[in-house]
Amino acid sequence: MMDRMHEECGVFGIWGHPEAAQLTYYGLYALQHRGQESAGIASIDEMTMHNHRGMGLVTEVFGGDRLKDLRGHAAVGHVRYSTTGDSRLANAQPLVFSYHQGNMALAHNGNLVNAMTIRDRLERQGSIFQSTSDTEVVAHLIARGGYPSVIENVRDSMAMIKGGYAFVILVDDALIAMRDPQGLRPMALGRLGDAYVVASETCAFDTVGATFLRDVEPGEMIMITSEGLHTERFADASRKALCTFEYIYFARPDSDIDGYNVHMVRKHLGKILAREAPIEADVVIGVPDSSISAAIGYAEESRIPYEIGLIKNKYSGRTFIQPSQELRNLGVRLKLSAVRKIVDQKRVVMVDDSLVRGTTSARLVTLLREAGATEVHVRISSPPVKHSCFYGIDTSAREELIAAQKSVDEIRDFIGADSLSFMTEDAMLTAFGVERGKPHGFCNACFTGLYPTEVYQTNKRALERQVKV
Ligand code: SF4
Repeated sequence: MMDRMHEECGVFGIWGHPEAAQLTYYGLYALQHRGQESAGIASIDEMTMHNHRGMGLVTEVFGGDRLKDLRGHAAVGHVRYSTTGDSRLANAQPLVFSYHQGNMALAHNGNLVNAMTIRDRLERQGSIFQSTSDTEVVAHLIARGGYPSVIENVRDSMAMIKGGYAFVILVDDALIAMRDPQGLRPMALGRLGDAYVVASETCAFDTVGATFLRDVEPGEMIMITSEGLHTERFADASRKALCTFEYIYFARPDSDIDGYNVHMVRKHLGKILAREAPIEADVVIGVPDSSISAAIGYAEESRIPYEIGLIKNKYSGRTFIQPSQELRNLGVRLKLSAVRKIVDQKRVVMVDDSLVRGTTSARLVTLLREAGATEVHVRISSPPVKHSCFYGIDTSAREELIAAQKSVDEIRDFIGADSLSFMTEDAMLTAFGVERGKPHGFCNACFTGLYPTEVYQTNKRALERQVKV
């Protein structure tokens, strides 16, 4: 059981470049932080679709000559962390199929909250599914569509699904990109010479040398063909709700989302946190890697020196469930080490971006005390996570979220810190440029329980089952 919110997936698409698959490979490489379980690329060459998918990191899946066979002027790619559907090859994306209107490759980032309901209906009508991923539900909807053109069937299918998503769809004569009506999941559009590119994050553009044009708008469908780019709204986007965790934790610091640089937002969060929850201390440290920006902000504002007090072992991989507490603690030491010379005999402020189950924080506090810290004050640059996410983020079931079960003082005692403070929701929003008390365009549902879309009973039941297993 991981003690972290988990990235969902990353998507990349390119149209109009002779090395489309190679560039997609580099784009996925830049998006690897969004999913490490599987990777895949599909390309179109005249009317022939090529694809390769596999379990593992991008470099592992596309080792050797794998890319050589992915010919063509257009491609879509995907990296996956499974939030719904099993972790197996059948669920890796892009999902590629041929049907009466030609070839299609689909990949998406996010989660469809009514996928189970639609799947149930389609199965009763005779559809046979090969995977447990939401993407296949959309593939069936498009393939069964009654309109003469692919675009019309895609548009019609999108009207039926609800949730947070960013889709890339490759067909014989077009690349289609879509962002959900609330803009929960990010997606950007860029240009590389004569080619167009789309990606979950702008860091992928920097890697392939593309220029950022703009964010894909919530509820927007972009179609890129040999004729150029065409855009339209497929849904009313009156209520925007970008996932706040993209800024807090998921996105890479060098990415820009909706005009704001992620590192700068995190640093701003740290500064506000220092104003909201000051403490006398000798050194400020951040939990690598995602909390470093917030820790720098906290240090700047509080005028307490920032230091690297925790080092991450980048090659340790995942800590799987260990049979005993002793071995579990060893698992954390494999991933993170305290820098004794920095924390010994010091009052330490440890800044972390979020606190989910509390077990990792507890081990980090112990690690710092063992390295000689005289006091450990934990500062979290987001509000307490009290509710599960239904939009493609793995938050664990509600019963496992420590803030849903305990007060702040009880959590402080659980993790063994001298003090603990979270960010308030209002203060967090000011870091995103929202005036206090004013309406905003962010999803904060895992803090507030106020979901920006209808949440279907089937999802709730699925989560309840997850707890019982
Ligand atoms: S519930 Fe939380 S993690 Fe999920 S989309 Fe909303 S803000 Fe993001």
